This record gives sequence, C-alpha cells and structure tokens, in this order.
Amino acid sequence: MRKKIVAGNWKMNMDYNEGLSLFSEVVNMVNDEATGNQQAVVCSPFIHLHSLVQMAKGYTKVSIGAQNAHQEEKGAYTGEISAKMIRSTGAEYVILGHSERRQYFGESNELLAKKTDTALANGLKPIFCIGETLDERNNGTYFDVIKTQLAEGLFHLDEQHFGQTVIAYEPVWAIGTGVTATSDQAQEIHAFIRKEIAAKYGEQVADATTILYGGSCNPKNAAELFAQPDIDGGLIGGASLKSRDFTDIVKTFN
Ligand code: 13P
Repeated sequence: MRKKIVAGNWKMNMDYNEGLSLFSEVVNMVNDEATGNQQAVVCSPFIHLHSLVQMAKGYTKVSIGAQNAHQEEKGAYTGEISAKMIRSTGAEYVILGHSERRQYFGESNELLAKKTDTALANGLKPIFCIGETLDERNNGTYFDVIKTQLAEGLFHLDEQHFGQTVIAYEPVWAIGTGVTATSDQAQEIHAFIRKEIAAKYGEQVADATTILYGGSCNPKNAAELFAQPDIDGGLIGGASLKSRDFTDIVKTFN
C-alpha cells in the first residue's frame, strides 16, 4: 500500500511565534486523533524549520518540510537557502515547483529538474507540484501540460530517486479560489499521471507513487477526494493554517 500523506503548505504566513503555537496544536491533535497509517507533513517558512523539527521529536506521524530550495549546492547566492541547509535542520521534505513559484518567480521545468536533483542529492524528498491554469483547462491542453511538466521536471530521474518523490497535482484555478476540482476531475488527472509514470518506470513504481491533490481542499471535501483510487492525500494551503481543519483533513485516513 502506498503512503497516504496530508501536507500543509503555510506559504508566507505565520511569524515565528504564531508558527510555533499553531504547530504545537497541530502536533498534539494529530498525535491524539490520527489513528490510520497516514503521515502529516507541515511545510513551513524556513525560519520555523529547526524549531518544528525539535517539537515533532517523538511524534512519528508528523514530518517537516520546506517550501522551496535553491538549485545550486552553495555559494554566492545572497538571500537563498540550500537543500543541505534545509536537511541540516532535520526537515525531510521540500515542496518544489509550486504554481506560485512558477508564476511569480519564473521557475521553469528545466530549473525545477535541477532543484529536484539537488534536493534529492541532499537527502530531501521533493513534493513536486504540477497543474494547469484555467486557460489550459478551458482550451483542452491540460493533459499535454501535465505530461510536459512530468517529462521535463521529473522523468530524468533514475528509478531509485524517483521513488523518493511525491507528486502533487494542483490545478492553478483551484488554488486559494474556493473552487475545488470535482473528485472526478481530480481522479481523471491522477490516473493519467499514474499512467505516465507506469509508461516511464513500470507498473510497480507507478503503484507505489504517492500523488496528492491540492486546491481549496478542506475538511468538507477531503473525504470524497481522498476516496478516489488514485488520490493518496492532499497538499493543503488555507486550511493548514487552522489546527482543527488541518487535523480533520489528516483524519480522513483514519
Ligand atoms: P489552498 O488550499 O489555499 O487552495 O492552497 C492550495 C495550495 O496551493 C497548496 O500548496
């Protein structure tokens, strides 16, 4: 059985103290209430990482991740954070290729392929985001968009490294809009993603790959989405900033 994951993406929210107090609620609630095999991953701003890792010690159901990492190992890149620095805090995951990074910071598939390599070389597990815009959904090119994002961003990896990677399908039109993809729409794309993985790496690898859905996921719609055969959890934005909502989404897998 592949891993079920509910990951929270705090984005650029929570100052240091706000983040610690939110996380202390999350870690306790998840520990007390999550009874299945699911894993919760909290992806915070960089400033929280070290403290959250310390607070999560002994709570095996909660892991920590960052939201971005630089593609180079180290050097004269003022203001940037390397994969090695992130890993040295004890964080295990890193979100790469979020649509906000693609849109506002011009991150291309080619750059993201490099970031993925550097993250994996430093022992981080990428949560690699893909997804189409509203225009691409409306003009019917969305399968091609997804196929290209996978081919150019991830499919250069060997099987062993690919196996460390989680994929998140986040249709851009569903992010922060309150408009969720229907469970049928999401399942259709997740099945397509798994088919593409099978064509590249074989059925066994495809079967073992965790594919998350993201975009206006909340405690009300999570159950129907996560019940789909190819949806293995969620990447949660807004609702991850509320401990009750986030925990309730994690509990979908109880
Ligand atoms: P929302 O859940 O706020 O729509 O954000 C989704 C997202 O971008 C998670 O990475």
